[in-house]
Amino acid sequence: MRYVVALGGNALQNIDRQLELKRELLPIAQLYVSGNEVVITHGNGPQVGELANLEAKNLAVLTAQTQAEIGTKLQTAMTAAIDACSGSRTYKRDATAVVLSRAVIDPGSGEFRNPTKPIGRFYGASEAARIKSSHIVIKKLHGGYRRVVPSPPPKDIIEAGTIKELLSDGHLVIACGGGGIAVSTNGNAIILMDAVIDKDRTSSLLARKIDADAFFILTNVKGAYVNYGKRGQSLIKRTSLSQMERYLDQGHFEQGSMYPKVEACLDFVRATGNTAVIGNITNAGEAFAFGAATVIGP
Ligand code: ADP
Ligand code: MG
Repeated sequence: MRYVVALGGNALQNIDRQLELKRELLPIAQLYVSGNEVVITHGNGPQVGELANLEAKNLAVLTAQTQAEIGTKLQTAMTAAIDACSGSRTYKRDATAVVLSRAVIDPGSGEFRNPTKPIGRFYGASEAARIKSSHIVIKKLHGGYRRVVPSPPPKDIIEAGTIKELLSDGHLVIACGGGGIAVSTNGNAIILMDAVIDKDRTSSLLARKIDADAFFILTNVKGAYVNYGKRGQSLIKRTSLSQMERYLDQGHFEQGSMYPKVEACLDFVRATGNTAVIGNITNAGEAFAFGAATVIGP
């Protein structure tokens, strides 16, 4: 079976140095050593925000930096996890491969006129006024002033074919970090764009493009809830595409956090007829067994 597993920020905490085995990653390693094809994708929110605070580089370049750094750390942690598993595959030093991945966006997207994605730290009013420029858009949000950047939807993933080849060759692949390096195309030319892309959306697109048998989003909650944080809060367990579409329309999922995850899952299930899961990284084994998580079937 072929799986795409998207990891949120929480899963990436404390993987700086391989001092001890990161237990949460063991079920992913187990999935791989039992003979499945596995692609891991990951977020980069805090990291790209921090880099953007430090230097005014193109956001595609900053995303590439985070893909390399987080990818290498995740690779080291996954190598240790694979080594700790016993399975049909023998341990190989080059079992894992990190792929710098570019995602194509539309340069005409409305996001370039009206950016929506907050990144980096909060500013006070006077600091915000000073930083504001023709390149840097600052918006007043609840909590203070923050830089917002364009986050258009991904249309294509240039490395999808390469990722498939690496899978066929037996590698566990780490790809599409931070939603991918945002590029646009002009004929055969590729242009690095000053934009970021939502990792849940790109992960879903990748899962569709490589015909994944299942798509998993692992985060810091058990799954998607109805009435989250309110009276009558309840975890959505096994559900159908149409029921989940109704929950989405009823506004149960917060923009910028759970909404894009649910939308990403729905896009995958609609296109493939396969199953998508939103689960907790601390309980990944259960999620892979389609239990104790939000499991969306066709
Ligand atoms: P990640 O880094 O994994 O992408 P996010 O913070 O973007 O994580 O999304 C997960 C968060 O979504 C949860 O921690 C939770 O606070 C929030 N959330 C908003 N609405 C819901 C909901 N309806 N059900 C579950 N979580 C929700
Ligand atoms: Mg998120």
